[in-house]
Amino acid sequence: MNYTSTRGKSGEVLSSAHIIKQGLALDGGLFIPESIPSLTNDEISALCALSYPERAATVLAKFLTDYTYEELLLDCQKAYSEQSFVGGAAPLVRAKDGIYSLELWHGPTAAFKDMALQIMPRLLSRALQKTGEKRTALILVATSGDTGKAALEGYRDVDGIKIMVFYPVDGVSRVQKMQMATQLGDNVNVTAIYGNFDDAQTGVKVIFSNDDAKAYLDEKGYFFSSANSINWGRLAPQIVYYVSAYCDMLTSGEIAMGDKINVCVPTGNFGNIFAAYLAKLMGLPIGKLICASNQNNVLTDFLRTGRYDRNRDFHCTMSPSMDILISSNLERLLAFTAGKEKTAEYMDSLKNNGYYEIDAQVKAKIDESFCGYFADEQATAQTINKYYKENGYLADTHTAVALSAAEQYIAQTGDHTPMVVASTASPYKFAADVCVCLGLKRPEDDLDALDMLSKHTATEITYPLRGIAERKVRFTETVNADDMLDAVKRYVD
Ligand SMILES: *Cc1c(COP(=O)(O)O)cnc(C)c1O
Repeated sequence: MNYTSTRGKSGEVLSSAHIIKQGLALDGGLFIPESIPSLTNDEISALCALSYPERAATVLAKFLTDYTYEELLLDCQKAYSEQSFVGGAAPLVRAKDGIYSLELWHGPTAAFKDMALQIMPRLLSRALQKTGEKRTALILVATSGDTGKAALEGYRDVDGIKIMVFYPVDGVSRVQKMQMATQLGDNVNVTAIYGNFDDAQTGVKVIFSNDDAKAYLDEKGYFFSSANSINWGRLAPQIVYYVSAYCDMLTSGEIAMGDKINVCVPTGNFGNIFAAYLAKLMGLPIGKLICASNQNNVLTDFLRTGRYDRNRDFHCTMSPSMDILISSNLERLLAFTAGKEKTAEYMDSLKNNGYYEIDAQVKAKIDESFCGYFADEQATAQTINKYYKENGYLADTHTAVALSAAEQYIAQTGDHTPMVVASTASPYKFAADVCVCLGLKRPEDDLDALDMLSKHTATEITYPLRGIAERKVRFTETVNADDMLDAVKRYVD
């Protein structure tokens, strides 16, 4: 299986190991597979008897043809082990009649990024071997909190790779700071910077494009790489849990083989929901894909009108991982529905004008599979409260956006197809906000919110967040944004 750019300008035709190593196409586009492998009902039936790592290896083997099934199985067994995902990866929990919560946050950082970031570094490590790379990859990450921690856990102690994470010293919560500063692993570094997230991100971008820095690293036997969410190595593993959810529903008798399910996803960069679309294209019986947004509802408007317009106010919400105005992975959907030439035009228009408008034909094609709903802050809070009080289901702020969207969809369409809602974070990850939504007083220190939520709901703190205040801090350095490159050099020396 080969991969090409969504923009079709670079003419690259590359195999899976190469695109996982490279990340972005040379024309600025994203890599997509040349064809979609199929998943038959017989294959789905066979997967029902298998473990999550086996299901994952089977699905990934269809896309990552540079890797043997045995290699993928070994990596998946490590990535989705009982140790990393206590109680199993991606369990499906009934939230209420007809609505099932696909809990993607049982991994080491209590958020769904783990589902991809536990496996992607292993795929990259093998890709380096397969492409004959002798140097060590140095992953640089600028984070506003969650991605940094998930990347640190994913790359920790993976061969041939080191990782360095920069975060704004006053721009992350206490919980997030503690999670990163106490990170274990021999190949990790965490450095705070004076400044905000943009300063950190700009600093990383400047280092990436600095030729002297590249030469310095090369001399030391390193090269720069990124943990970016648009890498195919992060997207492909996300297809697996939709297949796995379908298997679990078959096994528990909620559906019969061939019955459709709908899927609702709290969306930011459009990666997670695009993975569900790929599962549908492969043949998984999915009806509608409901794209759920928070107050930053650029995708809701796009799916309703066909016009993508980022010229709008940016809102900081209590579902910060969805506070995004440019959803990068949407480009992959455009390539599949509008073709590469038009995709390149749309992306030019987005870059130059901040908007683009798709043709009626393209919109009709997208409408066959997608629809968009959003929940503002009040609707999100009400949903958390309602699900907890009426159904005993405790949702985090991101999952609540999707639960609200799913209910809006069902009320508006009368479509009662069983609905799988992607649950993307533990309620404890956003404990302070969840407490407030449940009517409690906001604690002054967000570390206290963990105990507060646990006491109030008589539930256990998700294990990666337990005892976090007592852990040993390993990383204490804070540097000026201008001195980030020096910090990198010190790290590789
Ligand atoms: C990243 C993230 C999302 C958004 O996922 P996309 O793939 O970017 O659409 C939603 N919820 C949480 C908790 C996240 O961390």
